[in-house]
Amino acid sequence: MDLGISGKKAVVCASSKGLGRGCAIALAEAGVDLVLNARGAEVLEKTAEDIRSRYNVHVETVACDITTEEGREKVLAVAGTPDILVNNAGGPPPGIWSDWDRDDFIAAIDANMLTPIALMKTLLPAMIDRGWGRVVNITSQSVKSPIAVLGLSNSARAGLTGYVAGTARQVAEHGVTINNLLPGIHATDRIFALNTALAKSKNITIEEAAAERAASIPVGKYGEASDFGAACAFLCSQQAGFIIGQNISLDGGAFNSTI
Ligand code: NAP
Repeated sequence: MDLGISGKKAVVCASSKGLGRGCAIALAEAGVDLVLNARGAEVLEKTAEDIRSRYNVHVETVACDITTEEGREKVLAVAGTPDILVNNAGGPPPGIWSDWDRDDFIAAIDANMLTPIALMKTLLPAMIDRGWGRVVNITSQSVKSPIAVLGLSNSARAGLTGYVAGTARQVAEHGVTINNLLPGIHATDRIFALNTALAKSKNITIEEAAAERAASIPVGKYGEASDFGAACAFLCSQQAGFIIGQNISLDGGAFNSTI
């Protein structure tokens, strides 16, 4: 399917690996020029080179921490006024309710709520002026179904979801869509780290922890970043202009509900 976005420009935050990388590749396949970001310059450049070698698109990189104001300024200086914004950052660490103090919550809210909000606030006006824009926020299945050990993530992402619910409906009349993609378990480094923590807490092997989590997904296996990216690219397509303020689960059926 031609997504109708060839020649557009996207910023994909936190995109050297995992789900962000999957989104960047799918957008490149649709002909979108990219600004990629991650903290580690080496892997970021490798990802950019991989995309340049496979697709006929322009790819720039900005190595910085997107959760800091300085980092966001660096990305924006290179990106200018892109047509597409994919918000993403690393997730907060796991723990238990009694572990978390004010500073832990502030860090999580900064990274997973206030950073995407700041980028939207900066980039939405130009999208509105042009009468076209797409924003996709990578959040988590924990928005719909809390994951107890990820209390910091549950809290910060719920805040972002509330902001998007209202804002998406305020900008929709200008041809700008904002939606959230909610990943269930995908085969990325993040999940390897969480499986390692689960194995330690249950005194089982990492392989047993991985299998236990896979068994909780109706599809019976972890999701792939490439499939996740394809869903993101579709949300950025011309055809997705009527999809507004939605929270779309990509979780292999793990969230159990009738509607
Ligand atoms: P991942 O495989 O660990 O990749 C994270 C990517 O983000 C890397 O490119 C990393 O590069 C970059 N990054 C991390 N922190 C950053 C920062 N502060 N500034 C700029 N770049 C940053 O993670 P993932 O699995 O793709 O997860 C992406 C997001 O989805 C996370 O918020 C995660 O909590 C959420 N999520 C994932 C799953 C899943 O199953 N994978 C499920 C639910 C939610 P550097 O380290 O070099 O910066």
